[in-house]
Amino acid sequence: MPTIRENILAVQERIANAARRSGRPPGAVTLVAVTKTIDPERIREAIAAGANNLGENYIQEAVPKIEAVGHGVKWHFIGHLQTNKARFAALHFDMVQTVDDLKVARNLSRKAEAVGRNIEVLIEVNIAAEEQKSGVQPEAAVDLAGEVASLPSLELAGLMGMPPFLKKTEETRPFFRKLKDIFDALPKEHQIYLSMGMTGDFEAAVEEGSTMVRIGTAIFGPRT
Ligand SMILES: *Cc1c(COP(=O)(O)O)cnc(C)c1O
Repeated sequence: MPTIRENILAVQERIANAARRSGRPPGAVTLVAVTKTIDPERIREAIAAGANNLGENYIQEAVPKIEAVGHGVKWHFIGHLQTNKARFAALHFDMVQTVDDLKVARNLSRKAEAVGRNIEVLIEVNIAAEEQKSGVQPEAAVDLAGEVASLPSLELAGLMGMPPFLKKTEETRPFFRKLKDIFDALPKEHQIYLSMGMTGDFEAAVEEGSTMVRIGTAIFGPRT
């Protein structure tokens, strides 16, 4: 079994090669190591190997882990944000990647203000308008981004999205392209992170312009 360190190095190498294929330097893409279900000891191993952006999906699971591991790294919330958990998100996370409506954003901004923090946010886009998926509809994304950008304690930093689950990775490319087009329509100062690409499809996502990939399985192995 390869170690966490070996996995991270291999993933970084694959990201760098995909970035070069898209005409960009390796440093153009930020790796977020997704640590849901992973215990603090293995998270520390990942940090020691250079992971400095970590992603969690569930507030209840994440808070004790963040307290154990500390704030020397950047924590990304990548799960569905419930209204009653916004205060914890504002307290513990540096970026929330899943803002998909104005009410959620206003609430998060108020909570961030109350705890004296500024939170970076991404707008989550439901790229293929799938019924069961969260995320704002593609045609409403730019308007929502504008409204979120005006909230006092949030810093709009880009977009996040997931293509529909397809057996052939190649078929996900049109969805990555669509998200990239919406990203390009944002005001320039908000075009910082285009968060797309996971273990199964991150090279295609980077080739299509991703600047942030969220990777769990390829680093920590299959989740049980
Ligand atoms: C779990 C998760 C990931 C990581 O998925 P892997 O396939 O294990 O790389 C990325 N993004 C989100 C939103 C997730 O929930």
